[in-house]
Amino acid sequence: MHETQSNCCYCGVGCGVIIESDGTQVTGVRGDPAHPANFGKLCSKGSNLHLTAQPVLQQQVRALYPEMRTARDQDRERVDWETCLESMADKFATCIQAHGADSVGFYISGQLLTEDYYVFNKLAKGLIGTNNIDSNSRLCMSSTVAGYKQSLGADAPPCSYEDIELADLIFIAGSNTAYAHPILYRRIEQARENNPHLKVVVVDPRRTDTAREADLHLAILPGTDVALFHGMLHLCLWEDLIDTAFIAAHTEGFAELKQTVRDFTPAFTAQICGIAEKDLIQAARWFGLSKAALSLYCQGLNQSSAGTAKNSALINLHLATGQIGKPGAGPFSLTGQPNAMGGREVGGMANLLSAHRDLSNPEHRAEVAALWNIPSVPDQPGKTAVELFEAVRTGEIKIIWIVCTNPAQSMPDQNLIRAALEKAELVIVQEAYRNTATVAYADILLPASTWSEKSGTVTNSERRISRVRAAIAAPGEAHHDWQIATKFAQILAKKLNKTQPDFSYTNPETIWDEHRDSTAGRDLDITGLSYSLLEEKGPQQWPYPADAKAGQQRLYENHQFATSNGKARFINCAYVATTEKITPRHPFALNTGRLRDQWHGMSRTGLVAQLYAHAPEPCIEMTAQDMQRRFIQDGDFVEVSNQRGTQILIAKASDQLKAGQSFIAMHWGEEFVSGTLHSDDGISKTLFGVNSLCNPAFDPISKQPELKHSAVKITKL
Ligand code: SF4
Repeated sequence: MHETQSNCCYCGVGCGVIIESDGTQVTGVRGDPAHPANFGKLCSKGSNLHLTAQPVLQQQVRALYPEMRTARDQDRERVDWETCLESMADKFATCIQAHGADSVGFYISGQLLTEDYYVFNKLAKGLIGTNNIDSNSRLCMSSTVAGYKQSLGADAPPCSYEDIELADLIFIAGSNTAYAHPILYRRIEQARENNPHLKVVVVDPRRTDTAREADLHLAILPGTDVALFHGMLHLCLWEDLIDTAFIAAHTEGFAELKQTVRDFTPAFTAQICGIAEKDLIQAARWFGLSKAALSLYCQGLNQSSAGTAKNSALINLHLATGQIGKPGAGPFSLTGQPNAMGGREVGGMANLLSAHRDLSNPEHRAEVAALWNIPSVPDQPGKTAVELFEAVRTGEIKIIWIVCTNPAQSMPDQNLIRAALEKAELVIVQEAYRNTATVAYADILLPASTWSEKSGTVTNSERRISRVRAAIAAPGEAHHDWQIATKFAQILAKKLNKTQPDFSYTNPETIWDEHRDSTAGRDLDITGLSYSLLEEKGPQQWPYPADAKAGQQRLYENHQFATSNGKARFINCAYVATTEKITPRHPFALNTGRLRDQWHGMSRTGLVAQLYAHAPEPCIEMTAQDMQRRFIQDGDFVEVSNQRGTQILIAKASDQLKAGQSFIAMHWGEEFVSGTLHSDDGISKTLFGVNSLCNPAFDPISKQPELKHSAVKITKL
């Protein structure tokens, strides 16, 4: 039996795994006791990873060979790699020469390894000359990025998992940690056992398993987080719980914010948020009096049309109370995807450049151009996720290359996405799985390797870089993502008459070394790291500059922030309600979120029978009273609809919600809930899964869509 140290490919906790194999097949998986993210523990998803790699399943669901079609009314046919990439490069070159570099776009994934991400970013921005490359991380962490940058000056989570044990208040906002980050939640449970004085407050409209276990649950109304954080700050000011010395020495902008929060009296805030005044006061006192307050937050803050404001309003609380840059304290974002952090590090989004550089900064563009040995990097901002597909739909973008993600399930407003995929002149899908909703739209399917077959690095929520290692070969003719992009770049470069950046990579390490060198002097400087050091010492946190002996566990301990003057900024953000209003026609607020045992669109976890035991089928949860009022019983079919879509689902009574609220798990796609519904009046409605109902309205700064709140109608069938 062979044993290979690697990482779990699901969430941003970034647990280490040992893959057991016989050299050709994965035979088992167990937690890596040496990995500091999990010390040998795995959750239900991670501990069943080996079952997703069984040969019988691989034959059924894997994309094994390149496939192409020459017309939309034809089936794709198997082709060899050379023919496929040559044809793709011809089409790209023709399109770029006729319509410009911005006529093509890339939509990539937080599940790619850092090396894959780096090459795709360089291909788009360096070789082709377009910034039209965005990632499904836009649906996940872009509000966090914007929040950290505007408040603290850099996209850098300042805390470590160890802070969980050092905190005396854990303030969980917009995160069902017990389901979404289970191993971290076990660490919280252990910390509570070890320290009976540790308090846990959970802010969540739903009474989730995480909320149920908390000392205090603030069941705020959807979208009212900014009002809550302003109200808590108001109370901290009123009760003299702020750190005036810290504010004076290390921050700016407090006077303006103070004016704003003056209006957020306990009565006013409690009314907006729909919570009891005494609970608000309790939360503010615990936060203000805490010796070490640690916030953990995720999609409840991010997936919002006010996502950046929510992040900054929470960071305001930390700055006002001096709860940052010390053990057990700080605003700590929990990354959704396994390598959303790595993607941000290499600048794999429409507004970013390598090593946390900004596309809008001319000096940063010049630095990257010099690193890549090209005259310039394009200065026009690229299209972000929703904008990208909107541009495909209007014909502005003619070729779309989708890598390791399934927008025909995961993006909001499926009518828009599917109209875009039909309108595109060429849809390329690079995937490990051939059964995703997006693959059905592919004119070209490029088979990619996946977990247990590929090597590189990922970065988890606490800035820790881990090596991912291959245990077995990829099946069929599947290639690694970086290899496909590299080979394509080499072919395209010959067809485009322009200065080309270097794409002579022979393995992931050569790519990673280039990325590492690009970080010199940046906030995430890792010039002291190498693959061999990661082999020798194991996973390491950044920054890790050339002269360092170890990675930095906690940021801003010297209270020097990453802004131009070293001061953190209070952001005077306004409270703005959710974009979609509840109306008599659409009287229910729809929230979406994770189940404990499933991951994203279920292309992997959906293969494992055991993972259905917890929730065997999709359903819509509502309160028993709301069901009663509509003569709906547990198990009845209901139609859930709004102006964007319709779904038929089983109704289930839930004690986690308030009146007027509903919840659908995000995972189930069209293979579970789709079909064509023919109503009596002859109108046909096609059903595409939960995101067909979700609102594509996005945050003005982060451009992250409001997946957590839509207004819907629920009717008994
Ligand atoms: Fe994998 Fe996340 Fe579970 Fe760890 S907590 S085993 S990274 S899914």
